[in-house]
Amino acid sequence: MVNVVLPGCLMSDSFAKGGSSLTLRALVVLVVGVALVGCSPKPGARAYTRRGDEIMIAGQLFHTGAPVVLWTDPGGYDAYRTERRFVPIDQSSWAKVTEGGKGPASPNRYDTRTAGLSPDDLERVRGGGWDLPTLQGVVDQFVIHYDVCGTSRQCFRILHDVRGLSVHFMLDIDGTIYQTLDVKERAWHATSSNHRSVGIEIANIGSYADAEKDPFDRWYERDERGNALRITIPSDLGATGGVRTPNFVGRPIRPELVRGPIQGTTQRMYDLTPQQYDSLTKLTAALCTTLPRIRCDYPRDANGQLITSKLSDEQLATYTGLLGHYNIQSNKVDPGPAFQWDRVVDGARRLMR
Ligand SMILES: [Zn+2]
Repeated sequence: MVNVVLPGCLMSDSFAKGGSSLTLRALVVLVVGVALVGCSPKPGARAYTRRGDEIMIAGQLFHTGAPVVLWTDPGGYDAYRTERRFVPIDQSSWAKVTEGGKGPASPNRYDTRTAGLSPDDLERVRGGGWDLPTLQGVVDQFVIHYDVCGTSRQCFRILHDVRGLSVHFMLDIDGTIYQTLDVKERAWHATSSNHRSVGIEIANIGSYADAEKDPFDRWYERDERGNALRITIPSDLGATGGVRTPNFVGRPIRPELVRGPIQGTTQRMYDLTPQQYDSLTKLTAALCTTLPRIRCDYPRDANGQLITSKLSDEQLATYTGLLGHYNIQSNKVDPGPAFQWDRVVDGARRLMR
């Protein structure tokens, strides 16, 4: 027997639980195995120590392979708090916000998932007793939004401080995923699907119909030769816009406007960044693994093509999988015509094999 201290990427979760005392032969097998398959745990693998890629589901940590900031981390966004985040602290309390009868209708921006639970289960989970199998029986949709805010910090300000809403995940332009609530909570992001879904707001300034004015001049610019396109965060959102990666330069994965039909009207938008697609693909694989009633697919018509409009109420009632906000509400167009469903779904399926 040899006692060794394994570096983080060699510390498989079973060793983390059971201590680090290995036979020499087992150590050699482990090191060779890691060299062959790489260090990263599969998205959806259970985690027992923090590496910085974990999401929390019913109180348990699961790897994604993407950078994740939890609401409990420095720099995180905590949707459990009742006070506003981005006002002076002496002005932030619920009592201050509601002075004079103004402000949001509720101190909370989320509540308990109740649909589909037996009375016994409901009594248990309202007391803090959510367990993964119960949640796996309830959650079967992953709703994709873009935030029309441009950055995740601004998204949280609008959701939490202004609108009194919430979403489990935000995905910033540098690929950082922020989790603001445990997936066990019913976040308020998608009306009729809140009780059965997980939601993500992707940082993007949004999609616009032909007749609508767009803010693209403020948010995108080309280099001197007119080629490479980059995201320019307006100065009123601060020097970095809250983006966590130092000196990050965000570029849409396709450098031209993308046009396409949503809800039967032509929309135009700039695509997400490669870092966003990479993180979203990994998060999708993690969610479809840990909550397997979320099928790793998107709404398709009889020919297998993406449906870019609201599903009927009957379709929605039985639909399980990824879907856009526009599939739930006819007055929504997110995540817009540029969103590459096949890139995310095909990539996630490869990671799940
Ligand atoms: Zn939305």
